[in-house]
Amino acid sequence: MVSSLAQAPLASRAVARPVEAGSDAVCVYCSQQIRFSARLKARKVIANVYVDGHWDRVEQFHEECYERSGQAYGPARKGDRALGA
Ligand SMILES: [Zn+2]
Repeated sequence: MVSSLAQAPLASRAVARPVEAGSDAVCVYCSQQIRFSARLKARKVIANVYVDGHWDRVEQFHEECYERSGQAYGPARKGDRALGA
């Protein structure tokens, strides 16, 4: 299967990623810092938010906060492997 990236509509989407050490991102849902934890293997959700077909911003969530938010930008894809953008 070819990646669907090229034909994906310009719509908001979300990916789940491990929280990297030194992360200082703040969760837009609970306003708390998204902290790295080796023990908990914390994950975060990064959402690329498009407004009217144009990229607008990136929002970051704790993975559980994203679930709580009702998956505002659709189900988060697993993004463990870095495949370019
Ligand atoms: Zn949160």
